[in-house]
This record gives sequence, structure tokens and C-alpha cells, in this order.
Amino acid sequence: MTTKKKLIAGNWKMNGGVAANDALVRAVIAGMKDAACTVAVCVPAPYLSQLQVLRHGSSLELGAQDVSKHEQGAYTGEVSALMLKDFGVRYVIVGHSERRQYHGEGDQLVADKAKAALAHGITPIVCVGETLAEREAGRTEEVVKRQLAAVIHTNGHCISEIVVAYEPVWAIGTGRTATPEQAQQVHARLRAQLQAATPHADRVHILYGGSMNAANAATLLAQPDIDGGLIGGASLKAPDFLQIISAAR
Ligand code: PEP
Repeated sequence: MTTKKKLIAGNWKMNGGVAANDALVRAVIAGMKDAACTVAVCVPAPYLSQLQVLRHGSSLELGAQDVSKHEQGAYTGEVSALMLKDFGVRYVIVGHSERRQYHGEGDQLVADKAKAALAHGITPIVCVGETLAEREAGRTEEVVKRQLAAVIHTNGHCISEIVVAYEPVWAIGTGRTATPEQAQQVHARLRAQLQAATPHADRVHILYGGSMNAANAATLLAQPDIDGGLIGGASLKAPDFLQIISAAR
């Protein structure tokens, strides 16, 4: 059981526009004044500069959606952790299932990206999660354990500095949410795996992601090992995102 402040992070994915971002972020900042949790938005890289200005003077934290494993150089299209740092980025998502699925990212690359972020004081939000076929084959725990093990192995004692997001692939953007019991069961296994790697496992936020919304957030967030949420679709609508933020106490 953990008592730390919860973390609610929005993942805008490849959505947004200068005018829409302005309206959304202003509404979120205005509505989150009494938030009991930490709030972040992980935005497409071209908007980091805009967000840096918009969030100024507020407690809204800034996140990115990916980072290169490389420091700098001839890697066309990549964005380094140092570049993210320039814009005040505190979090970066690594290993989102959409990157694993559409961009062929494997466990070791995800672990290397987490390492690159940590090297520059950026907290990686490491996503793990099983597909529907894997769940139906009874392989959920084996899959998430393998995904997290690579990150633990590569990052050693820094592992207490990461955030983990359990995102069952079958629940992302589908409107199908894991039940609080299903999510808690996996979160407890992830916590145990972290405990075997570090005496500070209780510090690690383990977020749930996958169709979290205003209606289901409170029961998910009430589970002992669910320390917050990674929110896709619902983070694009200020009223929905704000209701999830209010549920995180
Ligand atoms: C996500 O993309 O990380 C996510 C959880 O999406 P959604 O909330 O839309 O299912």
C-alpha cells in the first residue's frame, strides 16, 4: 500500500494544434488549482515550446511521448533527452504499445530509451502491457514481467526513479477497461518485481492506462497499487481530464 501523491498524465498522442492546445491547456490549468495529485501532459514534440510558455507559473508538468536512445548526432527524425530538457520536460513516455506495434520497438530499445531519459534527469514512463491474445492465452504476467525486466536490467539502481504504466493493449482506445481487480492483480505483480530489484519500490508510481475515464477513474485509483493514470482520449477534453484529476486523491 502506498501513500504517495498520485500522478495523472495525459497522452495526447498525435493530436493537437496551436489553437486547440491553447484552449485545452488554459482550461486544464484553471480547473486543476485544487488538485491533490501531480498532473502532466505528454504532448507531440513540436508543441513543447508552446506548452513551456502556457504552463509557466502553474503546477502542470510537461511530458514528451518518445525519446531517442542516442545523445546526439546523425539520427534523422530523432529527439534527444537533452533537447527535451531544454523545454522543461519532466516525463517522457517510452515503450507505448503503439510504438512497440507500429514502430517495431523491442524491450531492449525501450530500456535504452529509459536510460537515456534518466541520464538527463527526465522520468521515463515505461509502458508495459499484454495483447488480447496474450491475455486469453494466460500469458499476461509473463509478458509484463519480461517487458519490465529489460528496463530493470539496463537501469540497475536507478530503477526506483522510473514510472511504470500498465496498459493492457486491448484496453487502449477501445473503451474496454480492465476491471479494478484485473488491474490491481497486475500492478501487485509489477510492484513485487520492483521490490526484488530495489528497496525503494514503494516510491515508484505504477499507473494504469487503457480507456480510463471520468466514470471509472475513482474505482481504479482506489486500488492499493494503482498510483495514478496514463490517459489517452480523455486527456483531450478538459472536463473529462479534470474529472479524472479530481478522482485522484
Ligand atoms: C494511452 O494511449 O496511453 C491510453 C491509455 O489511451 P486511452 O486512454 O485512449 O485508452
